[in-house]
Amino acid sequence: MSQEFQAPRGFHDIFGEDLKKFRHVSDTVRKILKSYNFEEIILPVVEFADLFERSIGEATDIVQKEMFVFEDKKGRRLALRPEGTAGAVRAYIQNRLFAERPYHRIFYEGPMFRHERPQAGRYRQFHQIGAEIFGADQPVADAEIIKISDEIVKALNVKARIEINSLGCKVCRPAYREALVGFLSGVSEKLCDVCKDRKERNPLRVLDCKVETCKEAVKEAPRTTDYLCEECERHYSEVKRLLDSLGVSYVENPHLVRGLDYYTRTVFEVVSEELGSAVIAGGRYDHLVEEFGGPSAPALGFAVGVERLALLVEVPKEEEPVYFLIPFGDVIPYALKVAEVLRAKGKTVELSLRKGNLRKQLDFANRRGFKYVVIVGEDEMKEGVITLKDMETGEQVRIRAEEVE
Ligand code: ATP
Ligand code: MG
Repeated sequence: MSQEFQAPRGFHDIFGEDLKKFRHVSDTVRKILKSYNFEEIILPVVEFADLFERSIGEATDIVQKEMFVFEDKKGRRLALRPEGTAGAVRAYIQNRLFAERPYHRIFYEGPMFRHERPQAGRYRQFHQIGAEIFGADQPVADAEIIKISDEIVKALNVKARIEINSLGCKVCRPAYREALVGFLSGVSEKLCDVCKDRKERNPLRVLDCKVETCKEAVKEAPRTTDYLCEECERHYSEVKRLLDSLGVSYVENPHLVRGLDYYTRTVFEVVSEELGSAVIAGGRYDHLVEEFGGPSAPALGFAVGVERLALLVEVPKEEEPVYFLIPFGDVIPYALKVAEVLRAKGKTVELSLRKGNLRKQLDFANRRGFKYVVIVGEDEMKEGVITLKDMETGEQVRIRAEEVE
């Protein structure tokens, strides 16, 4: 095929077995979110680029190298969304949802775009289901979103470990940042070139670097939890106490920082050992709504990586059998009528478009694994019946379509 008709690198068609897994993940997550009464919001795929630049942070990987930015006809800078929280916050403010009630639980689902180096579980278009709670500062909200993440991996039968941390707040983060900058200047020569650059501009990011030498170099870095102010300490302890009372297992990782700048206090990741990466990630962002011109509305949320989870799940066997309808002879209008009767009974019916004799049709049905074949020939039409064949037992009966159980 000529190069110009290939999908661009990192962009994928999702179909067949992969799509079944994708849908299984999506359906499961949506069901769990709905059981907590999260309301869906459909957000645009395109926003003004500076919405992301200002929220995610100028010195982050996403903004520095991963965003698809383009100009519209009036020269305005737009971006394909790399994540959902910034758009959700924009929508929360623009639609004045805060005026409706003191807090909101919402979720969104859809494609996200990041110009990353494609590899297993890392694409340039991928899908997230994200949930956000606006207007809640209580630790129980943090515990709730982490519990939901736990429910998601359990319902999908995926082995993963929950890592949590607290990044502190405007009061206590500066002291931590300073201690970290001091530490990083001592190990500077061991850091990768990118981290050498970000160790002052955005030192927390260094803790998130995936390069082995950097991971090694920061092993003894100061721990965020050693610098928490009294209120952050109390908040974090309460989150952990609630998780314990809910029976959610987690490990504390005092170097977990996440790749976006807007987080405060609780952050967490659900990490799959098998993939070597996170399948769900999130945290609290208490100032973002206000920084975007909204009211003071502490908030938090998480995003589920649908493709990554889909790589790890088994799809439950479909119980619904398919009826493969083979019209034979000059019977098409009658066959269509039969299909209609069966579908009205809730059956799934596929009309055969395979050409050839009955033998070929049955071989084809067999290869496709259909449980039932419905043969409609001229005799059947005359008598107003169908021949229903059970492909597993080979049993065959002539009955009226209305009589199919
Ligand atoms: P990573 O550290 O793996 O790059 P991230 O911190 O950039 O992840 P988030 O921005 O927190 O990821 O996004 C939340 C989730 O979305 C991730 O945990 C992951 O499951 C999924 N995700 C992120 N980037 C990609 C991608 N390029 N392709 C597929 N899934 C992704
Ligand atoms: Mg990333």
